[in-house]
Amino acid sequence: MKRFLPFLCCLFLLAGCAAPASSAEPEQAQFFSMDTVMSIRVYSGGGLDAIQAARQEIEGLDKLLSRTDPDSQISALNSHAGDGLQVSLDAEVANLLSFAKSVSQLLPGCFDVTIAPVMDAWGFTTQERHIPSADTLSAAMALVDSNGLIVDEQASSARLERAGMEVDLGAVAKGFAAGQADAVLRQQGVTSALLDLGGNVTVIGAKPDGTAWQVAVKDPQNTSEALCVLSLEDQTASTSGGYERYFEENGQIYHHIIDPKTGYPADSGLLSVTVISADHMLADALSTALFVAGPDAALDFWRSREDIELVLCTQDNRVIVTEGLEAGYRPAGEDRGYTYEIARR
Ligand code: ADP
Ligand code: MG
Repeated sequence: MKRFLPFLCCLFLLAGCAAPASSAEPEQAQFFSMDTVMSIRVYSGGGLDAIQAARQEIEGLDKLLSRTDPDSQISALNSHAGDGLQVSLDAEVANLLSFAKSVSQLLPGCFDVTIAPVMDAWGFTTQERHIPSADTLSAAMALVDSNGLIVDEQASSARLERAGMEVDLGAVAKGFAAGQADAVLRQQGVTSALLDLGGNVTVIGAKPDGTAWQVAVKDPQNTSEALCVLSLEDQTASTSGGYERYFEENGQIYHHIIDPKTGYPADSGLLSVTVISADHMLADALSTALFVAGPDAALDFWRSREDIELVLCTQDNRVIVTEGLEAGYRPAGEDRGYTYEIARR
């Protein structure tokens, strides 16, 4: 939990000092779900009831989607891999699986929702993290193929074609939860709020004074500091980086974002990727996928669509900010050796 605190404080500071002096303190809650620290702060409309409803929504989703909870729907799907049974799911789970599959098709070789056996081979699931043997890794890699995940959205069911295959929604679950929590808070009348679901910061509306939220992107090499600060309204900023979960062996760092082409932690020249979008789930999925894709492919992908903006931090200390963010971003790491550039369409 400790590693999340600096960022929470950093976010709090920015949000806190941004609120007008006359406004009341926000209603807030901090809790642990989906294997991470989460916080919800409501600045206007709704109140503690709204926060409680959003928290329940997120905790309910965790119960449905967790791969380590044997009673979850994802565990049911995984345990029937290869036996031909089409497993019944809640409609939202089927939709999420179908979305995750579609991201594999958007960025082939970068994202795969059936990456679970490889996560297990590295011990990321059990916390007993280690470099897998070549045999273990190739056996796990042979099971990774999102084409073998068959989703029937109409019937609200899914199956995995081969025994041993498993789905892992770690790259999208928090973004999906952000979208659902955002909807719950708005239904409860919330017009100004800040959600931090472990690396996914979602803002509702603007600050109570009507100006945009100021959200810090963490410096991946010094996570108690900001890399830059973004002006956001009604959006999610989702960050993926090798610094979130990792272990060290023989002086090498091995992190939890896997390149499905190699089965090894992605090493594409990036330290972190932040995706900004009004589509919360898309932001989360793409931050993982573009981290694997690398800076050039990430910028090509950005140029191909209108619904995302990016902040890329490269291994050679460049911070590349896409032009849609230009007016509202502020660099914050020049004294730490970063250079900033704007990417154009
Ligand atoms: P975090 O969960 O730390 O915020 P991400 O959103 O980037 O970070 O998700 C990382 C998680 O996604 C991993 O823990 C794993 O469950 C899953 N994952 C890792 N590599 C991939 C990949 N290439 N494609 C899809 N999912 C992945
Ligand atoms: Mg993600």
